[in-house]
Amino acid sequence: MFLQRLELQGFKSFAGKTVLDFPGGVSAIVGPNGSGKSNVTDAIRWLLGEREAKNLRGAKADDLIFAGTEKRSRMGIAQASIYFDNSSGFFPTEYKEVVITRRIDRDGNSAFYLNQAEMRLKDIIDFFARARLGARGLNIISQGESDAFLRATPAERRELIEEALGLKEYLLKKNSAVRELRNTGVNLDKARAMLEEIKPHLRTLRRQVGRYEERDNLALELKETEELFYGSKVRAIISDLSRFDPEISATDSDIVIKKEELSALEASFKGIESSEPKAKKDLESIRERRKVLFGERMALVPRPVLIPSPFIEHKAKKDPLAILREIRGFAESALDSSDSETLKAVLKRIISAIIDLESVPVVHSAPIVKKDDVFESKVAEFDRLFEELDVAEKKLTTELEGFNKVFRDSLTAVERKKDDIQALIDRRERVVFEREKIKYREEEIENQLRVIGRSFAEFANASDVSADFDSFTAERRIFKLRNELAAIGDVDESIVKEAKDTGERHDILVTQIDELEKATSDLKELIKELDYKIHHEFTVALDKINGELADFAKLMFGGGRVALKLQSPVISIEAEGVILPEGEASEENIRQGIEIEVVLPKKRVKGLEVLSGGERSLLAVAILFGLISISPPPFIVLDEVDAALDERNARRLGEILKRFEGKTQFIIVTHNRATMESADVLYGVTMGDDGSSKIVSLKLS
Ligand code: ATP
Repeated sequence: MFLQRLELQGFKSFAGKTVLDFPGGVSAIVGPNGSGKSNVTDAIRWLLGEREAKNLRGAKADDLIFAGTEKRSRMGIAQASIYFDNSSGFFPTEYKEVVITRRIDRDGNSAFYLNQAEMRLKDIIDFFARARLGARGLNIISQGESDAFLRATPAERRELIEEALGLKEYLLKKNSAVRELRNTGVNLDKARAMLEEIKPHLRTLRRQVGRYEERDNLALELKETEELFYGSKVRAIISDLSRFDPEISATDSDIVIKKEELSALEASFKGIESSEPKAKKDLESIRERRKVLFGERMALVPRPVLIPSPFIEHKAKKDPLAILREIRGFAESALDSSDSETLKAVLKRIISAIIDLESVPVVHSAPIVKKDDVFESKVAEFDRLFEELDVAEKKLTTELEGFNKVFRDSLTAVERKKDDIQALIDRRERVVFEREKIKYREEEIENQLRVIGRSFAEFANASDVSADFDSFTAERRIFKLRNELAAIGDVDESIVKEAKDTGERHDILVTQIDELEKATSDLKELIKELDYKIHHEFTVALDKINGELADFAKLMFGGGRVALKLQSPVISIEAEGVILPEGEASEENIRQGIEIEVVLPKKRVKGLEVLSGGERSLLAVAILFGLISISPPPFIVLDEVDAALDERNARRLGEILKRFEGKTQFIIVTHNRATMESADVLYGVTMGDDGSSKIVSLKLS
């Protein structure tokens, strides 16, 4: 016993609260035409989640609510509840009893309850679907619907079978997997196209960023090399400059000292100079005096001429005295002349007079002097005077020579000091020049540093460079690095950012493609599995159904052959609106419809078209039971499926029903007495005086 009870209130013709208990096995609902039997079927269908009013034999939702009669007023709400025994755990819920209630009012409000908890219609449909129950399946065969399978197209038949087998779920899964596969394929193509599109751009960006990274290395090397190069330069300049200044100031103080010494020497020289003795003048006057005396002496000698010692030799031809007078006359005439020509002429005449004098023969004999005492005394006087003059002259000359020596020495000392000072000045100038050269170098380095935004002071405390540091190579390297950096250009941050963004986009796309490829292969695998399941289960089930059908055919027609066969022409899944991705059209995807093969015993003709109404009904019932025999549902509602059967065939139906005892519970609406006889419980439905349906329980056993 699974379906326990049905409660109706305000539903269609069941105005008052009506309860139908189903004890199990076969429950037959009987009653006159129009009493409301089929409304019971409708109620069950409604409770299983039917959405369409027309499938409940109404034009609109309102039609489900008791419309009222002359004797009984209409109702505002229709409500029905169905009770299931869930002790077997058929429904995947912890409830031992599952009660589904559906309610509708005239304002269009509707509500569903699962054990009093309100649910959405969709959730209820899912709830039943999970248990392979539903408003549209083989659970409820409405009046006139029993031959639906016969009337259906081969494709629809296949669907009905799949539904009965619970393959619908797999098919839906497969279709959604196929759709997903198709979307995945589209997304994969898109992602691949995008990836291909950004790849060259990204390569270019990465190359540029690579150059920027290289730039960083070059810039670092440049900085390090500059540090060493300028460090060594600056330090050398500072050390050079520090050497020069002390040297200059030492020289300066030397100069000061020497100048002081020079002043002292000059002062002493001036003193000496001013202390020049009169000796020179005295000497002049002595010489003047001698000249005068000499003249006087000469005048003293008329003949023979007494020649003083320097003129002792005489010439015979010409009187030597005359010659001397001549020389004197020449010399005196030239005394005041400054003209060199005149002087030269005078000198020539003096020379020629001297030559004349030389030609005078020397008289070795004593001069013939006339003895004269006065003369003699005068001569002696003159000699004495001359001697006095000689003594005075000698004394003065000695004195003068002493002075001259002191004077010369002092002058020499002054000159030497001046030379020393000059040497110091020269040396200072040389040092200053050297310093200027270094200063120029300093300026040059400062300028270079300014260009690179650095300052001289920054390098003042640079550490020592290693011994093998080569300044020339370093400078060339700096030059080369600067050129390379200039060639690379400045870092464009927007390119770096774009490279980063594009790289991320690239990685995302690669990941996406990986995921999509994985999803594609997963989906293909899933589709393959589902295909196999659907195909395999369907084929196995079909064989089983045919086995049952052969049995039913024997039972119902006393022989012959009834079988469901896969149609030979194929219906591809595309025909059902599912477009397969390329290369996915496998045998499993080709859906073959179902043909019904029927050969009745003792009859030549075959095929559905030639069957009588009863035969057709029998066949429909046989196939229905064949289908449900594969996976018998817990309950089935059959509304007048036996309408066209004669009593014998109705009994045969009863026998079939018995075969499902313990597996499937039947609710059968029937007018057929034989069917009624095979029922365990009978409910009579009558139309009351007030125009509403009433239930009368006619339990048989
Ligand atoms: P049959 O044996 O001829 O198939 P039945 O017993 O199955 O008859 P139903 O079709 O279940 O009868 O019931 C039809 C009756 O229910 C009709 O008389 C109809 O007027 C009544 N009915 C249907 N809907 C409503 C409604 N909303 N309010 C009142 N009565 C309704």
